[in-house]
Amino acid sequence: MLKYALVTGGSRGIGRAVALRLSQQGFAVVVNYVSNDAAAEETKRLIEDKGGVCELLKFDISDDQAVEEALQQWEVAHHGDFISVLVNNAGTRRDNLMIMMSDEEWHSVIDTPLNGFFNITRRVVKGMLQHREGRIINMASLSGLKGVPGQTNYSAAKAAIIGATKALAQEVAKRKVTVNAVAPGFIVTDMTAGLDEAALSKMIPAARFGTPEEVAAVVAFLASPEASYVTGQVIQVNGGLYS
Ligand code: NAP
Repeated sequence: MLKYALVTGGSRGIGRAVALRLSQQGFAVVVNYVSNDAAAEETKRLIEDKGGVCELLKFDISDDQAVEEALQQWEVAHHGDFISVLVNNAGTRRDNLMIMMSDEEWHSVIDTPLNGFFNITRRVVKGMLQHREGRIINMASLSGLKGVPGQTNYSAAKAAIIGATKALAQEVAKRKVTVNAVAPGFIVTDMTAGLDEAALSKMIPAARFGTPEEVAAVVAFLASPEASYVTGQVIQVNGGLYS
């Protein structure tokens, strides 16, 4: 019987690296994304080239109705199966100083990573609780731990995800479901493409940005049987920038 891992935002960046890594760990990977069909197809091809199983599931995680429909359709098509690993990775950022921040900039960043986490997790966790097996891994950020100026919206969303991780971990631990967060620092992806990598690297003790694969390795550990007694934690992957 296949074991399924759902990775939101698996078409690119950290999510793609996580999807590849979980596939190599033996999971059939369900890759969610919102718009970039070409990137999602590329993730699928990379997984299948290595002999893995991948399905694409396109929906907007901030749209509760779309989440409900997509997950219901998946369950109908996979009678008796359940998602045993959920990686809440999809995210966006819309940086601005708070005094200039529009309603749209605030709400879009709260809606995607934070409300998206809620929309998906409350449904997927049910199957985990029924089967007494599950791993939920939430992509937080350095920004949610220390706060980053110009990112009050993003810092708020990521800090809230950390709080929810710790609370949910205590709700579901008895049923052998663990809930953890990973908090990356600066990682080379499309999200950081516009930043001055050389200048910012001078602030990082490791003197470089991290790679998506370095984040995926931590997610893979948290998804593994070896991590069964680790729950409610935030693991930072930031080259020593902040702890
Ligand atoms: P990225 O390269 O910009 O990729 C974002 C992914 O999220 C894409 O797969 C995108 O799908 C998907 N996505 C965006 N909005 C979505 C929505 N409403 N519904 C479903 N999918 C959606 O980002 P990344 O750098 O890999 O970041 C991944 C996660 O790590 C995010 O939560 C981010 O906040 C966090 N993080 C990143 C860094 C960093 O330095 N890169 C640092 C700390 C935390 P499409 O391809 O269809 O657009």
